[in-house]
Amino acid sequence: KLHNTILELKGNIRVFCRVRPLLSDDAGNPEMKVISFPTAMESLGRGIDLSQNGQKHSFTFDKVFMPDASQEDVFVEISQLVQSALDGYKVCIFAYGQTGSGKTYTMMGKTGNPDQKGLIPRTLEQVFETKQTLQCQGWRYEMQVSMLEIYNETIRDLLSSRTDNGGKQYTIKHDANGNTHVSDLTIVDVCSSREVSYLLERAAQSRSVGKTQMNEQSSRSHFVFTLRILGVNESTEQQVQGVLNLIDLAGSERLSKSGSTGDRLKETQAINKSLSSLSDVIFALAKKEEHVPFRNSKLTYLLQPCLGGDSKTLMFVNISPDPTSTGESLCSLRFAARVN
Ligand code: ADP
Ligand code: MG
Repeated sequence: KLHNTILELKGNIRVFCRVRPLLSDDAGNPEMKVISFPTAMESLGRGIDLSQNGQKHSFTFDKVFMPDASQEDVFVEISQLVQSALDGYKVCIFAYGQTGSGKTYTMMGKTGNPDQKGLIPRTLEQVFETKQTLQCQGWRYEMQVSMLEIYNETIRDLLSSRTDNGGKQYTIKHDANGNTHVSDLTIVDVCSSREVSYLLERAAQSRSVGKTQMNEQSSRSHFVFTLRILGVNESTEQQVQGVLNLIDLAGSERLSKSGSTGDRLKETQAINKSLSSLSDVIFALAKKEEHVPFRNSKLTYLLQPCLGGDSKTLMFVNISPDPTSTGESLCSLRFAARVN
């Protein structure tokens, strides 16, 4: 490990909250302000208050981004974590929240407008820029990308040329060195952020094919983007192996609201199970408990080596300010407060 990052000194699990702006197609009365930000010194930039039925609920996180925070403002706060992956750490960044709260905007952003690029494209730019810079210090980096989706506890390869999985099982194995192997998963060697942009487009297409087959699948599945980084210093022969996982989680909305029956019910149960498993795992890690229930879901088992040990985890909890979302927002804030 090359550097001692600031995050390491502060512990391994961070929670950032991001409140998106009110949009013209939000259904609630915009005059009704549900969310406010305390201005007291001790919680400035870290506190969020939510009012429901005249009752105020206050939360504090490692950071709170107000609706006017730009994509750049957010990226500045995570670029240290990206550097950690280049230094040989395993890193996970999650986006958690109900559908429509801004998870995909935070992770991917909007294509077409450079200011609105999200964390994934900005991360890739930083990674490949740093790779260039470190070359003159003798570092040679190899980068590999994979992208998958977990839907109803089943893995789907988003970079496969087939859309039907071809009957593949995608079993997850961890080796003694803490490396994860998913059988049959497509892994692509990449040399530039443009190459990865192309792969991201392919993955998005693959996800939307699933969408027509299975009702809005993209908000009902977890999207996992993985960048593996292998660095070798040609003069010192020092080696580093880092992993960066960027995860756009399935919508966290509760069962009752979606009025689920049949397939939809099964879907919701699978989502609830994996999100609560994730919370259980992060909670157990934060409390340094002996038993961490990684095996309770595909997602936590897949990410096991990147969640425990000296790896670094950041959870974004995305919040919609729409008054009709107050109940869901409170649930999300409580979820995040539990893992923080
Ligand atoms: P999710 O992925 O959680 O379902 P999205 O990321 O798709 O939610 O966001 C829902 C809508 O809100 C999209 O139209 C998105 O462009 C917009 N949006 C989300 N966050 C922001 C933001 N910080 N600034 C501007 N628009 C945003
Ligand atoms: Mg989304």
